[in-house]
Amino acid sequence: MKELLTPTFLMAQKQLEDVAKLINLEEDILERLKFPRKSLLVSMPVRMDNGHVKTFMGYRVQHDLAMGPSKGGIRYSPEVDLGEVAALAMWMTWKCALMNLPFGGAKGGICCNPEEMSEGELERLTRRYTTEILPMIGPERDIPAPDMYTNEKTMAWIMDTYSNYYGYAIPGVVTGKPIGLGGSLGRIEATGRGVAFSTMYILEKMGMPSSGLDVVVQGFGNVGSVAAKRLFEQGHNIIAISDVHGGIYNKNGINIDKLINYYKETGTIKDFEASDNIINEELLELGCDILIPCAIGNVITRDNAPKLNCKIISEGANGPVTPEADDILKDKGIIIIPSILANSGGVTVSYFEWVQDIQRLFWSEDEVINKLNILLTKTLDEVYGLSQDRHVDLRTAAMMIGVGRVAEAKRLRGLYP
Ligand code: GLU
Repeated sequence: MKELLTPTFLMAQKQLEDVAKLINLEEDILERLKFPRKSLLVSMPVRMDNGHVKTFMGYRVQHDLAMGPSKGGIRYSPEVDLGEVAALAMWMTWKCALMNLPFGGAKGGICCNPEEMSEGELERLTRRYTTEILPMIGPERDIPAPDMYTNEKTMAWIMDTYSNYYGYAIPGVVTGKPIGLGGSLGRIEATGRGVAFSTMYILEKMGMPSSGLDVVVQGFGNVGSVAAKRLFEQGHNIIAISDVHGGIYNKNGINIDKLINYYKETGTIKDFEASDNIINEELLELGCDILIPCAIGNVITRDNAPKLNCKIISEGANGPVTPEADDILKDKGIIIIPSILANSGGVTVSYFEWVQDIQRLFWSEDEVINKLNILLTKTLDEVYGLSQDRHVDLRTAAMMIGVGRVAEAKRLRGLYP
């Protein structure tokens, strides 16, 4: 229990408790939602390239199983611990329920530094992890996907290891796979696309211009680069953007198409044409209209929140704003589009991928994007409408809907035995 109750997990529990009061949730149901249903901790010995064996710790946590299989990514990071994975699993539950997907929330993680590992080491680690968590996962049980530092290749290794065990191809065990293995068109861009879509929706509601605004993006991975590209195409000025190694700034706007090509050629965004290099801390505090943190969690805290100088924050990463920072930003009048809404495009297209795999019937990219836009619009309408009716912020409204749906499923199923 001690390992579970880390500051990040306690923060997720507190958010739940606050929302429970607002929706008059029964004590008995709250008690059931406060903890993950299943958690597995595994140690994985891996033969490294130098011939020695190194042991890694890995986790898979399933927070809720009331409405279907559980769903959520697997992250590779030196920061990973049980509390973080459990908090992320809980947020996945609210995210899936908010989007009306027939899933509970889950998350996995391996404590490792992927930047220092070779591809062979990562493959052996991934396959060993899959073997260890094998009884917990499956298309009907729990379906992993990419998250920080995992990608299509990681998902292909998991799918292959899992399928080898059963003796036939089981593509539905993971989402975010390569297209050639049953992946979905549009999945890679889905999270960033959803971030940009929700941001544009809120701009319209706030009566702000649909182009020409100054945007700052933290993170140039799968989420940040796509969100930046979409908003750049829309005519907004991306005045600063960063990756793990640092950021670049140009007050007149950065050409994101050119930057993506530059990154492909050089492997960095540093020293890009006509821009100044800046550090990540400075980037968050730049004056802008929209700030989009798409890197890691807890980057906006009570220390830097008072210095933030934006009108809207769109959370591309999971949990980038701490609850204390949330209160400070609310007082400053900054509108936050919460991660369970802003970045829900990823898991939504994961759901589409799972459906396509099960049906063995694949959709065109347009079909995927149209379905995503329809679901996002419906959910944004619901969240925005509730926030207006109940005079609460968007995070609270999104949580009220998500938690309310899971609670209703628990109520309907009853308690066994
Ligand atoms: N890791 C992503 C998230 O946090 C995607 C999860 C999924 O596709 O299952 O939402």
